[in-house]
Amino acid sequence: MQKTSAKVCVVSLGCPKNLVDSEVMLGILKEAGAELTTDEALADVIVVNTCGFIGDAKEESIDAILALAERKKTGSCRRLIVAGCLTQRYKEELAESLPEVDCFIGTGEYHRIAEAIREDFRERVLVGLPTYIHDYTTPRIVSTPGRYAYVKVAEGCSNLCSYCSIPAIRGGFRSRSIESVVREAESLAWQGIREINLIAQDTTSFGKDRGAGLEELLGELIPIKGIEWIRLLYLYPGRVSDGLISIMEGEEKVLSYIDLPLQHISPPVLKAMNRQYTRAEVEALIGKLRSRLPELTLRTSIITGFPGETDRDFEELLDFIEAVQFDRLGVFMYSREEGTPANGFRKQVHAGVKAGRMDALMSAQREISLRKNRELVGKAIKVLVEEGPGEGQALKGRASSQAPDVDGAVYVKAAHSSPGEIISAIVTGAEDYDLHAEGAGATSATPS
Ligand code: SF4
Repeated sequence: MQKTSAKVCVVSLGCPKNLVDSEVMLGILKEAGAELTTDEALADVIVVNTCGFIGDAKEESIDAILALAERKKTGSCRRLIVAGCLTQRYKEELAESLPEVDCFIGTGEYHRIAEAIREDFRERVLVGLPTYIHDYTTPRIVSTPGRYAYVKVAEGCSNLCSYCSIPAIRGGFRSRSIESVVREAESLAWQGIREINLIAQDTTSFGKDRGAGLEELLGELIPIKGIEWIRLLYLYPGRVSDGLISIMEGEEKVLSYIDLPLQHISPPVLKAMNRQYTRAEVEALIGKLRSRLPELTLRTSIITGFPGETDRDFEELLDFIEAVQFDRLGVFMYSREEGTPANGFRKQVHAGVKAGRMDALMSAQREISLRKNRELVGKAIKVLVEEGPGEGQALKGRASSQAPDVDGAVYVKAAHSSPGEIISAIVTGAEDYDLHAEGAGATSATPS
């Protein structure tokens, strides 16, 4: 690969899976000799890694592209590259409507970024059927703050939920090898990462295309020195195995944190969404998790306003959320996406009704979250310190029950603790989502 001396800024939008792709692009660019900058104003080349999943995200991506394109008129930017899901989904429309963009890269070609930034690179649209997935030999620069990182264990999805454009954007489900994930985790530990978050569209399906699954992978990740917390995100409700629960029961490193995107609970809606589980199965699973994992943190995400969702369906959902009392809840309004089966469904729900239902769920959850946080006052928690003393000398960190980016934080008064340390703290105060605490002393020092 010919070296480059370009100054490159990578702007990453969307989900943690897209962020990992951006970090791989940073690694490949660095290896190709590029100078990396986070300041768009200084960049010769700007790469924006877009999200194209739902309406709001698409708008945000388009706004970002147009704003960055201004840099070509006013700033030092001479080349603008648009990568990611929006490109994969709308390559023709984008190529026609955005002449200021020099190259469009699909979700299966981001490993060719070092070629695409070159002035003499002639291909303007580099989009094919996404089959690529990086491995441990692929350079990657971790961009997440603090001492955590995402580890993408698989790409694509074959579940075909009726509202979802991901299978069309990211391709069919494909896992990395266990060796590849383990070697990457070892390299992250060596870089001082203490927490790894295993991610995929459906993490529970890891290895089904390779014969060895999540339990085998965890068996190899647990012994890695330096990695203290292993968190699993995006577990498909119908596929949480007893073996996985046993590992969480027996291994402190594998956090009792279950992220279970249910999307809904009313049977006709689950059926129309093509979600492969029933209310009874979900309730049985939650019962089992709560009886076997006393420290369990249970997260879910819900879609309101799916076509055909009646007031009764929604009442059932709200009752379910109030009955189960999830520790963490994310709510999204259904977004009508062309190319998905649900786009053609009758009884599309009015935007105002969708928003009202989302607000009702979020205000119910705010009360649940505050009550649960208040119950923690006086209790000991483990906190990964992420930022040094800020306002009022409090350190900022996350409890093991708080996932990065989506859950709250803990503000800890603790002398002599620094980022990367996992400390014990006593909760002294509670807010809707955040906690306040006082340090009870370090439980494990930053590895030397
Ligand atoms: S599991 Fe369903 S919602 Fe999630 S990425 Fe796959 S198809 Fe989309």
